[in-house]
Amino acid sequence: MDFELTEEQKMFQTMVRDFCVGEIEPYAAEWDETEKFPHNVVKKMADAGLHSVHFPEEYGGNGDELTFAIATEEISRACAGIGVVYLVSLGLGMYPIVMHGNEQQKRHYISRVINGAIVAFALTEAMAGSDVAALETKYVREGDYYVLNGQKIFISNGAEADFVTTFATKDKSLGYRGISAFVVDKGTKGFSVGKIERKMGLHPASVAELIFDDCRIPVANMLGEEGRGFRIALEGIDASRVSIAVQALGIAQAAYDAAVAYAKERRQFGAEIARLQAIQWMIADMATDIDAARLLIYKAAWLTKKEGHAPPKEAAMAKLFASEAAHRVCHKAVQIFGGYGYTRDFAVERYYRDQRITEIYEGTSEMQRWTIARQVLGVK
Ligand SMILES: Cc1cc2nc3c(=O)[nH]c(=O)nc-3n(C[C@H](O)[C@H](O)[C@H](O)COP(=O)(O)OP(=O)(O)OC[C@H]3O[C@@H](n4cnc5c(N)ncnc54)[C@H](O)[C@@H]3O)c2cc1C
Repeated sequence: MDFELTEEQKMFQTMVRDFCVGEIEPYAAEWDETEKFPHNVVKKMADAGLHSVHFPEEYGGNGDELTFAIATEEISRACAGIGVVYLVSLGLGMYPIVMHGNEQQKRHYISRVINGAIVAFALTEAMAGSDVAALETKYVREGDYYVLNGQKIFISNGAEADFVTTFATKDKSLGYRGISAFVVDKGTKGFSVGKIERKMGLHPASVAELIFDDCRIPVANMLGEEGRGFRIALEGIDASRVSIAVQALGIAQAAYDAAVAYAKERRQFGAEIARLQAIQWMIADMATDIDAARLLIYKAAWLTKKEGHAPPKEAAMAKLFASEAAHRVCHKAVQIFGGYGYTRDFAVERYYRDQRITEIYEGTSEMQRWTIARQVLGVK
């Protein structure tokens, strides 16, 4: 077994890191404070070639899931808010198209993302959170159109997305078999942005309500077969869970780096606090958590490449462990900074807030445990 990145992957990592140090990290605190979406940075990421990674080569892409993980970690380490914009635009929002779109849909939408389009994935509704099959947004066919009616909530990138992949049911009584997947372009009549949430962290990224009010989309905008939407959504979420794990890892790495540097610098009782065993034990636990999270993530990315799809159990394990590890790491980082860690003068306060959502979105930790247990026990 070889745990080393290849030379090519290391060069890519250095390129992304340099980009983040120049274009993202210096502005992360300001974006957190102003809660403004920095459109120009998305364009810069696309211009730097970061938007083509992991898409199939025949559609202009390059790299693989590990390359995507490397980029997502570096971006999230610099700014987790930009991390979610990136991973939803290239991952979650695009998986339904990449995995189930037809030739024309793939050509059209993948090239838009490579050129900097922002994407959203709209599944959650007021009465359909963890229980996604309970969604109520409806569609009916009228000639060459589908007409969508309903509201989605908590949609990342919702306010800025150039297009959104979404899910609606033909008839709620059909359960998950009634659900189909669609792509809806910004500017489509009947499609609008509602309430924008004020949230604990990830401030540069929007989370919005999306409203479909007699929204007419061409029948060509259905993704995959009619009635397969539930499966399409779950496959996309399985794949994307690995990127949320990576986002958590990026935040944890940033918190850990900051804590190690601070522990070596801060002096109390006549010496650096790094000399205190209490601090050393925290650093040791943080380093171990980060390494273990990285190994689970790399295993899930490797299996995704080998099997051609994300393995549900390993993806859930990576997401569960990495998000809870990031929680522990950020908690300790604030502790190591003492009172300063509670102020906005130091980034660990932001990491602590940004991390929290990784235990909730794309399936809460409880749902990950359920997924893992069902796979282990072989029960439905
Ligand atoms: C910042 C942010 C961004 C988001 N981005 C998106 C997005 O881009 N697209 C999208 O579609 N959605 C998005 N979401 C929605 C997110 O995925 C849901 O909030 C999440 O899946 C949980 O659903 P819920 O909030 O309705 O909680 P609920 O499902 O109501 O859960 C409440 C509690 O009950 C527990 N629970 C529920 N069911 C079970 C069970 N069977 N077993 C054990 N415990 C259970 C949960 O773990 C949780 O602790 C986002 C949410 C936020 C806050």
